Amino acid sequence: MSDFSFTCYGVRGSYPVAGAEFLKYGGNTSCLLCSTPDTNLILDAGTGIINLGRQLLAGRNTDREIHIFISHYHMDHIQGLPFFLPLYEPGCRVVIHAPPNPDSDGGSPLIHLFSSPLSPIGWESIKADVEFCGLKAGNVVPLSKTTRVETAFSATHPRDGIWLFRVGVNESSLVYATDVEFPLGMDAGIQRMCRETDVLVHDAQYLDNEYFDTSRPRKGFGHSTVSMAARDAVALDAARLFLFHYDPGHTDEILESNLEHCRTQFPSSFLARENQCIEIG
Ligand SMILES: [Zn+2]
Ligand SMILES: [Zn+2]
Repeated sequence: MSDFSFTCYGVRGSYPVAGAEFLKYGGNTSCLLCSTPDTNLILDAGTGIINLGRQLLAGRNTDREIHIFISHYHMDHIQGLPFFLPLYEPGCRVVIHAPPNPDSDGGSPLIHLFSSPLSPIGWESIKADVEFCGLKAGNVVPLSKTTRVETAFSATHPRDGIWLFRVGVNESSLVYATDVEFPLGMDAGIQRMCRETDVLVHDAQYLDNEYFDTSRPRKGFGHSTVSMAARDAVALDAARLFLFHYDPGHTDEILESNLEHCRTQFPSSFLARENQCIEIG
């Protein structure tokens, strides 16, 4: 087992899906665990974080701090949080790194998930030691001796933009670029942070024909086509590309045909798949 690996617990964009045609790659919304030597590092809290929380508790992995980085506040990236069981465990420490509050009312928008009328669960039910940290663009957040997270902000996702993360463990790295749309390619600042990564996890919500469909346009929705993901992987000189944040209408069969198309542009491409552990370094 290497020092650094990742496992997707949710790979879907927009909303969760169920059904036989989604079983192979999974129907939960965005959530990814980076396994590092000394931290539990989670990217996004879509419905996938529910299974992850159960596994962390079952494996008694909650002795270590849990860090959750939130890319933005759209529901498919936060909706699993009220069901993340370590939050209800006394003795657990959870640090939530989240974007600055667009409403600037002083509190975290995530608190709304734990309050009436959206939920019967109140924040007072939380028994873990929870700390909120605001993301700052261009920051490097050191989580331990081996593990750090670099952050970048892009305004390209409606309406409040999107945060990208580069997780570094010793000399290895994973870039998480979900909910991105760069019609003309990544801008220079984002490229600087993301280049030459070992693993690029990239939004791949649409097919080219969906993106350019004039009867139901998707341009400007803040998501990429499979071709745009491959183009960014080439531009960044990434070692491996994992397509991610699948359209809820894309069955396993459609995803596999998308992958074939992607590999014509970037041969070292793969489909992110729930519960599959991928070693990085
Ligand atoms: Zn999303
Ligand atoms: Zn979004």
